[in-house]
Formats: sequence, C-alpha cells, structure tokens
Amino acid sequence: MILVRTVNLTKYFTSGFIRKKVVKAVDNVNIYISEGEVLGVVGESGAGKTTLCKLLLGLIKPTSGSIIFENIDITRANRKLLDSIRRKMAYIPQHPETALDPRWKLYDSLAEPLRIHKLVRGKVEEKERVLELADLVGLKEEHLSRYPYEVSGGELQRAIIAHALSLKPKFIICDEPTSMLDPSTQALILNLLKKLQEEHSLSLLFVTHDPDIATIMSHRVAVMYSGMIIETARTNDILEEPLHPYTQQFVSTVFKRTRLESDDLLSQPPIEGSSYACPFYAKCPRRMPICKTKTPPLIRVADEHYVTCHLYNESNPHTGRI
Ligand code: SF4
Repeated sequence: MILVRTVNLTKYFTSGFIRKKVVKAVDNVNIYISEGEVLGVVGESGAGKTTLCKLLLGLIKPTSGSIIFENIDITRANRKLLDSIRRKMAYIPQHPETALDPRWKLYDSLAEPLRIHKLVRGKVEEKERVLELADLVGLKEEHLSRYPYEVSGGELQRAIIAHALSLKPKFIICDEPTSMLDPSTQALILNLLKKLQEEHSLSLLFVTHDPDIATIMSHRVAVMYSGMIIETARTNDILEEPLHPYTQQFVSTVFKRTRLESDDLLSQPPIEGSSYACPFYAKCPRRMPICKTKTPPLIRVADEHYVTCHLYNESNPHTGRI
C-alpha cells in the first residue's frame, strides 16, 4: 500500500531584484513510497534533493502540486491535522552536530518528544522508554549523560536516529545521513538503519549523492537532475539497464563501468546554454532537435521503470528505442 506520494510537486525560488531569475528547485515531481519500502533519491548537489525533503516535511510550501500522506493531501491540511500527520514522519539530517540542542544532555533530547506528546507517565516510565530507544540504536546508558559535543560523530548520529524513532514514525526522511562520517562509522550507521527499517517495516526516503549507498539501502531508486526526477526503477534495473543518458553517465562514472558505447559519449560534445526544454540537453550525448523545444514526458518503459527522455517516446520519429 502506498504511504506517501507527490503529485506534480513543484517549488520555484525567485532571486534578483530588477532582473528576476526563477530557479526550478523541484520541478513537477511525481514519486511514491509504499509501506515498508525504501526509495533512494540520488543526484549531484544542487539537483533539488534537499528541497524535496523540506517539502515532504512541510518545512516549506510548494509552488504547486500536492503531497498525499495516507490518502490525505497535507499541502491543504489544517494545522491540527498537519501536526498529527507530522508525528508519523521523522527526519535524519546530514549534519548531526546541528540536529540536537547542544545545551541538553542526550537523555533530555531523547525524552523531550515523549514529554511534549505526553507519551510517558512519570519519570520511571520516561527513563525506561529512553533506555529502550538508546538500546535500539546501540547506545549505552553512560552516553545519555553526555552533551552532543562529548560523543563521537557515530554516537551522535545514533542518538539522532533514536530521537527520530521516539514517536514511532511510519516514514523517515534520511538526508545524506552518513555523508559527514568516516567510512567505517558510515558502514555501521547504514547497517543500523537497514536493520531498523526491516525490523520496524519503516518507509524511508533515502537521499544520497552516492549511488553505491543507494544500492545498499534502497528497493527503488529515483534519479534527480535539475529539479526533475528523470528516471525511477527498481534498484537492480537502474544499475543494470539505466536508460536516461544522465543516469547512464552517473552510474557509469560512479561504478567505473564501461557500459556506454564510447561513440555515444563522443557523438555530441557539451554545448553552452541552459534554457532548453530538456534540462540535460546541453550535456546530453544523444540530444535531438525535439529535445531543445519540447519537454520530455514521463514514459513508462517497464514495470516500475519510468524515464523522462524523448529517446523512449514511441511517437518520436528520431528514436529507435522501445
Ligand atoms: Fe538527451 Fe533528449 Fe533525452 Fe534530454 S530528452 S536526455 S536531450 S535525448
């Protein structure tokens, strides 16, 4: 069953005073995440991943489009309804050092949501629940009496995961949760998240710029480029048969594979310019005249495999694919 989905979700930012410039941070995004599923969102920095997280968390309002959580359009929900839905969502940020109040010991940071939502009666029950949360993420009781600056990066990220789990959420948005950690700690935290996701059947949106991590963590992957989701598919399909020229380059570069024909890569060298109908036009080795003027539609090419590219549009006379 689908837990959360977006419908034509769009967020534009405007900059400049005299000559206004519109930045399409999130552009017509349609994604869904089922119960117990992990959707990896990959893309370079600046692709719009963090803006997408903020929209899903309700931290910023979309320019247009909807976010449907448990069949409720949260972009149009009143404050009371929104608060009750937000309890079912949690966030694990990229920078653990800014996530918890530096003036509070870890115990108080973990106890705070329980106190606010009156989920525990009395100090004894509160301590039991906080110790339970700490145990869930592999923290010892002694860590709880420390301040955030007195623990290691890995221990702090464990505390943040425990904090995220405190209200028993159904949906967790993980925004590059291990990118600031050293490789060995990164592996431990990824294992912990995977174990918790499986044991508690959590739905995760897992943002990363590293397809390797997306592969380990995700059931499906959505590739983001210039605010758009340009391809989504089951993780193995994205790795074994990436269709969009950007996904092919991305996967090929990161995994140092040679799946692309060198002729393809060299057939059309990059050109200057940015205002084309397809955002990848200037860098695309397979661009066609139609890509310059007509925005590519989202095309379903196989079960759960979607791509936004004219190469796969049957009605396009320039393509030979499909
Ligand atoms: Fe390349 Fe055209 Fe596909 Fe864009 S729509 S990725 S320019 S082939």
